[in-house]
Amino acid sequence: MDFFRRVGLELTEDGYVKVNEAMETNIPGIYAAGDCTTAMPRGFKQIQIAAAQGAVAAYSAYNYILRLRG
Ligand SMILES: Cc1cc2nc3c(=O)[nH]c(=O)nc-3n(C[C@H](O)[C@H](O)[C@H](O)COP(=O)(O)OP(=O)(O)OC[C@H]3O[C@@H](n4cnc5c(N)ncnc54)[C@H](O)[C@@H]3O)c2cc1C
Repeated sequence: MDFFRRVGLELTEDGYVKVNEAMETNIPGIYAAGDCTTAMPRGFKQIQIAAAQGAVAAYSAYNYILRLRG
């Protein structure tokens, strides 16, 4: 968590990584998924949700790279 804070990743007060629906963090090109994020419902952490979010994050990263390549 210290590392996340050092690089400027936006976290909630209790340490969850803030993400939007594309699993984007506040830092372009950095994505997060699963239990550590604000996208996971509190009190209902499920592996299927984490895996689905991972797929969304991967797709977002792929599109980010495509945009970089122009
Ligand atoms: C006791 C228990 C029972 C559960 N039962 C179910 C269930 O029946 N069905 C279900 O769907 N879900 C269940 N869950 C929830 C499910 O396990 C999680 O939602 C899911 O594993 C989240 O996946 P994740 O990849 O986000 O996190 P994790 O699976 O926790 O993976 C995070 C990984 O990061 C590693 N890590 C942590 N810190 C660092 C670091 N500093 N550097 C490098 N690596 C690090 C950890 O060792 C871990 O391997 C259960 C959870 C618990 C705790």
